[in-house]
Amino acid sequence: MLKSKSEYRASARKISIYNSLGGEKKPFDPIDKSPVNTEVKMYVCGLTPQDHSHIGHGLIGMRFDIIRRYLAYRRLNVTFVQNVTDIDDKIIEKVKTTGEDPIAMTRRFTDEFYACLGKLHVLPVDRLTKVTECVPEVVRFVEELVKKGYAYSTPEGSVYFDVSKKDDYGKLSNQNTSMLFESVRKELDKQKRSPLDFALWKRDESSSLSQPSPWGVGRPGWHIECSVMIHESLGDHIDIHGGGLDLKFPHHENEIAQSEAYSGGAFSDIWMHSGLLNINGQKMSKSLHNFIRFVDAIDTYGTALLRFVVARHHYRSAIDFADKLFRDNCNSLLDFHRLFGRVPDAAVSSSLMEDSEVSLLLEQFEIAMDNDFNAPEALVALEQFRAKIVATLDKGGDVTAEIKHRVGVLKELGQILGLFFDSLDEVESQGLSWLGKSLGVTPIEPKEIEALLAERVAARAAKNFQRSDEIRNDLAKRGVEVLDSKAGVTWRFA
Ligand SMILES: [Zn+2]
Repeated sequence: MLKSKSEYRASARKISIYNSLGGEKKPFDPIDKSPVNTEVKMYVCGLTPQDHSHIGHGLIGMRFDIIRRYLAYRRLNVTFVQNVTDIDDKIIEKVKTTGEDPIAMTRRFTDEFYACLGKLHVLPVDRLTKVTECVPEVVRFVEELVKKGYAYSTPEGSVYFDVSKKDDYGKLSNQNTSMLFESVRKELDKQKRSPLDFALWKRDESSSLSQPSPWGVGRPGWHIECSVMIHESLGDHIDIHGGGLDLKFPHHENEIAQSEAYSGGAFSDIWMHSGLLNINGQKMSKSLHNFIRFVDAIDTYGTALLRFVVARHHYRSAIDFADKLFRDNCNSLLDFHRLFGRVPDAAVSSSLMEDSEVSLLLEQFEIAMDNDFNAPEALVALEQFRAKIVATLDKGGDVTAEIKHRVGVLKELGQILGLFFDSLDEVESQGLSWLGKSLGVTPIEPKEIEALLAERVAARAAKNFQRSDEIRNDLAKRGVEVLDSKAGVTWRFA
C-alpha cells in the first residue's frame, strides 16, 4: 500500500482536524510522541443492534474508514476500537415482544452489520467491544464514581451521575447547565436530584441481561458503556473519538463527564462528528417510513457507487440520498474503471516515484486530505489526473511503464477514499442494475448491451437505419447511452 514519503512527526505538513470540542480546526498532535510509527488511539461509537442496521450506520462506518485509511497512509499507527451496545432499553423491549434470546438477536444484527461493512471494504476494527462482556468492569467504574462523589445511588437500587459536580458539563455541545435545564424533559423522577442527572446503573430484575451489583440486580446505562470500554481497551486518554452528529448531546457530553470525573484528566483530545443523512431531502425517521436498511442500500446502489457518493461528500456535511446523487456520479465512477480496464497490469513502481506528474498528484491529494480529510477535493484531483491519462491514451499513446505506474498510483490513492475495489464488470453490472430499478425497467446486463451494439453496427452497415435507431432508443429506455466516435461505439450510463 502506498505511503506518504516521510513519517508523520518528521513531515513538514500536519493534518488539520476540526474538533467539535472547541469548534476549531487545528494541527493534529498525537498523544504518542514517538518520532516513527506514532500510535493513534481512535474510538467510534457503534451499533445498538435491536434491529437491522440502516444506511445511516453504514455511512458512519464508511466515513471513518476513509479517515482511518488516510491516517495509516500518513504513517500513523491507528488502533481502532468500536463498541456494540448489546444491553439497552430498546433491546430489552424488543425481545419482550419477539421472545427471542437477546444475545442471539444482537449477535445476528451485529454480524449482519459488519458483513455489510466488509462488502464495502471497510477495514475490520482492531477490537470490537460488547457491553455483555464487560458488566463487572462497568460496576467497578461506577463504584469509583460513587466513591469520588460524582455519582449517587438511590434507595431503589439505581445509580445516577450528579451533573452539578462537574463544572464544565456541557462543554462539547457548548451549553451551560441552565440552558440544558430548558432542553431536558422535566420528568418527575423522584430518585434523581436533578433532571440533568443520568443513569449509570439501572435497577432491573426482569431482564435476562441483568447482573448483580452492589446496588442490586440491574444493568448499565447507555452512556457509561462507552466510557468503560474505552478505559478498558485504549486507556483513559485517547486521540480521536468519533460518532454521528446526533450523539453529540447527551451521549458524548455524558461520556466526557464520566471519563474525566473518573480519571481526573482529559478524555479525548479530538471529537469528530459525521454529518447527517437525509433521504430525498427529508430526515430518515421511523415516523416518515423512509428507513433504508444497510443490506438494501448495498443491494440497490451497489458497493462501488455507494462508496463513491460517500467520498464525494465531506464527512462533516449532510448527504442526501436521492436518485439524482447516484445518477450524477455513476459515469465518473465508470470512467475510472474503464481506464483500469485499459491498463489491466497497472501497478505502483518504486523506481518511478519521482515522476513529476505523480508528485504533483500526491501533493494535491495530501493537501486536500490534510485539510480535515477533504475527500471530495481529493477525488477531484484524482478525476483530473484520470482525464490527463485518458487523453494521452485516446491520442494513440502506448501503455508505457509510466502510464502503468500512474494508473497504479491513481488506484491506490482511490482506495484510501474507499474506492476502486470492484472490477469493471462489477461496476457496470451494479450501475445497470441500479439504473434499471430507478427507471422501473428490467436491468440489462453488459453482455446484452455488447450484443445489441454489434447488431446495431451490422444494421448500419446494411443501411438499416430504422433498426439502428430502434436499438439506440431501446437501450436509452434501459439506462444506456450509446456513444459513436471515430474509435468505435461505446456506451455509458444514461
Ligand atoms: Zn458512545
